[in-house]
Amino acid sequence: MDNLDNLEKLIWFDPQKCFIDGVWQDPNSNNYLPLLNPSSGKEICRIARCSDQDVNLAVSAARHSLDGEWGQFTALERGRILQKIGSLVKDKIDLLSKIESIDVGKPLSQSKADAIALARYLEFYSGAADKIHGETIPYQNGYTVYTLKEPHGVTAHIIPWNYPMQIIGRSVVGALTMGNAVVLKPSEDACLTALAFADICREANLPKGALNVITGYGSETGEILSKHSGINHISFTGSVQVGTKIQKNAAENIVPVTLELGGKSPQIVFSDANISQAIPFLMKAGLQNAGQTCSASSRILIQKSIYTKVEKALAAQYKNLTIGPAIQDFDLGPLISKKQVSMVQKYLNLGLDLKKIAELKLNDKHENGSFISPTLFGMVDPSHALAQEEIFGPIQVLIPFDDEEEAIKIANGTKFGLVAGIWTNDGSRQLRMAKKIKAGQVFINNYGAGGGVELPFGGTGHSGYGREKGFEALNSFSTIKTIAINHG
Ligand code: NAP
Ligand code: MG
Repeated sequence: MDNLDNLEKLIWFDPQKCFIDGVWQDPNSNNYLPLLNPSSGKEICRIARCSDQDVNLAVSAARHSLDGEWGQFTALERGRILQKIGSLVKDKIDLLSKIESIDVGKPLSQSKADAIALARYLEFYSGAADKIHGETIPYQNGYTVYTLKEPHGVTAHIIPWNYPMQIIGRSVVGALTMGNAVVLKPSEDACLTALAFADICREANLPKGALNVITGYGSETGEILSKHSGINHISFTGSVQVGTKIQKNAAENIVPVTLELGGKSPQIVFSDANISQAIPFLMKAGLQNAGQTCSASSRILIQKSIYTKVEKALAAQYKNLTIGPAIQDFDLGPLISKKQVSMVQKYLNLGLDLKKIAELKLNDKHENGSFISPTLFGMVDPSHALAQEEIFGPIQVLIPFDDEEEAIKIANGTKFGLVAGIWTNDGSRQLRMAKKIKAGQVFINNYGAGGGVELPFGGTGHSGYGREKGFEALNSFSTIKTIAINHG
């Protein structure tokens, strides 16, 4: 095992247990899976491989909590407990960051940003809990009509390995804010901060059963959870392929779903843009978390008159990049797994016919971890697979365009529609572009790759549907009941 002494000092809970009904429990299956450190390829600990019995226990604990103490909590009390959890997360930011870097391979400062974001989600939603309310509606004479915003009930959260803490913040915390009871299934590749979060909630005295965390394979534990008839809502973040399955499973139980899937998000640079302001965003938004970000900006569209200038500036930036073990905080760490490396390598092979503008070479030190060279391709045709498909690795393509009309056509020319960035100082063009771009978020003269706790986030097309983050998430995690009283 790798870094065991170090990890043992960091984790204060037993990662082999699952968190059900407010207590740590051994999995009924008595089966375990290895958790790997992607920087070294070595096992760091084992996690529980939860079976259908464990899923049943977690779902029924959640249901009982709604009938019990958690269901009786007022909005103010929910806000207060989230505030308490938030302050405990704040106290543990350094610890959580290190655990995440070892588990996920994310450079330390990027893990720290995620831990800070989790604390900020708790701060934001704790303040929102008692400010969400229904309406009174004018109706016929003799009637008073009002609406109640109610929780769905038991919500299932199936989250990926790329941003566990941020996704817990935007989905689990959003659901708890509205009074739902949660069953969380983190990715088998990245469980530790989800388990840490469970223990922090225990320490804060979150009523038992309000949060349950079960670990295991997605195709096993995750699938059982998504098919469970005791679930009232599913929040899924991950691939289009699994998202489609989740939707089908949910359909069998007539359960609403929020799908946060992938993207092929463009940044569009016009000739009147402030190029030196844009350059760091153009690169960082594509390479953050080694490109394993649903809102990664993997396409950069550049107006022809400034194409060469921008290409050169980006090539120079790529030359300064560093890559290495996550805990040492280089610009890039490894990918999550060797499996992910081979998926990304497939795209690098498809790019053999393209013009390579920059590439950061690996050396012997990278041999054991799941590292891959960040690569920038130039003069890419918008129909090329590298300009159409989500790669989920540190690969960016540059695409030249003539005018606004062509930029919109290329930007909207994929199956996805998650985020877009537009770089121009022409105010009218900013407004026109923002309206015409197919995306859930549009950034003008900046690019916040998924950032902004306050900002509603989600996609269109194959990027999914439903919104998380901001106040809007609280609509996704609740349902409206209309009450019409005939009082004459
Ligand atoms: P994935 O397979 O879609 O996994 C996402 C989550 O779903 C994980 O918790 C996974 O658990 C679980 N899962 C897998 N199969 C399931 C099933 N049949 N039923 C229920 N849950 C299931 O994504 P991935 O394999 O980690 O990554 C593959 C690709 O997905 C990436 O290359 C990328 O394109 C995309 N992706 C997108 C995002 C995003 O934020 N939009 C995030 C991650 C990945 P296990 O991990 O334990 O299998
Ligand atoms: Mg791991």
